Amino acid sequence: MPNTNPSTTTIERLNDKNNDASKKSLVNYSFFLGATKDNLDEIKKLNNNCGLKIFMGSSTGDLLVDDDDILADIFSVCNKIIAVHAEDEKTLKEAEKSVTGDSFTNHPDARPVEAAVKATTKAVELAIKFNKRLHILHLSTAEEVEFLRKHKSTGLITAETTPQHLLLYSPDIYNEIGSFGQMNPPIREKYHQKELWAGLKDGTINCIATDHAPHTIEEKNKPYGQAPSGMPGVQTSLTLMLNEVSNEAINLEDVVKWMCENPAELYNIKNKGFLRTGYDADITIVDMNKENTIMNKDMYSKCGWTAFDGKTTKGWPITTIVNGNIVYDNNKLNLDIRGKEVEFSS
Ligand SMILES: [Zn+2]
Repeated sequence: MPNTNPSTTTIERLNDKNNDASKKSLVNYSFFLGATKDNLDEIKKLNNNCGLKIFMGSSTGDLLVDDDDILADIFSVCNKIIAVHAEDEKTLKEAEKSVTGDSFTNHPDARPVEAAVKATTKAVELAIKFNKRLHILHLSTAEEVEFLRKHKSTGLITAETTPQHLLLYSPDIYNEIGSFGQMNPPIREKYHQKELWAGLKDGTINCIATDHAPHTIEEKNKPYGQAPSGMPGVQTSLTLMLNEVSNEAINLEDVVKWMCENPAELYNIKNKGFLRTGYDADITIVDMNKENTIMNKDMYSKCGWTAFDGKTTKGWPITTIVNGNIVYDNNKLNLDIRGKEVEFSS
């Protein structure tokens, strides 16, 4: 995501990030460029990366494009996938005013369903108008799934949701872990989950992503209104989904589709996502009988916490192979391996 410090809003910064990753990342990578109100020239130059991210509503960081004319300009010039954080800024500002008190349980009311629906609707209209590929990030509402289902036949729109939106729900999560359950768009009431799962199963939602945002415990310990939104998710995503297979809610083939095949296809990633002759050997070996409890102390992220701390899951990755090299095997990392920047077909 581009809302880092500094934010990734120029090709130069994108190159810097790729350069950093080439030195540090154990896995393969690509980064979004972030849209701003005045970086059209940079957006035009986008070439070999996963795409552009637009924050239609303000979230963590200072990236925000809430002006309709500028949004239209961005859609007209961008030739990569346009990925949107779909929350309507005006609706957020209105909702914020009506929320009183400092309880984290207010978070879904401060960033209501209408904000998400309004922004998703606007983004879909722009994608159709300019015939552009649109990807809706971290989908969180039943209403958006219904709306997107009606527009699937355009062939222009894909979407993703996260394990936390599928498995955690309001108000329980805020009562249990407060700010550590706070992200944007919010973890919402349970009724949304049924439709998110249905959307995944019928192909309205294409893949599982994590919106990995590893804010530190110190940052998260601030009161409501000051604590940043966002939670880590990369390390726990696969076991959480495999646990749903163990619970017989979904099939193993679904997980492969949502976490390997579909992401590779929707971003046009070269030689990845499938076990095929000539494809890169990026393989995760899982043990469907392994049971383990997710714990803060086992998190590799510098943030050192997870919203799923204490949850026992059945089905775990045991070996990870990147470009033919074993980078993780039975709890041991091989820190000598480096991933590569992934490539895209146009
Ligand atoms: Zn976002």
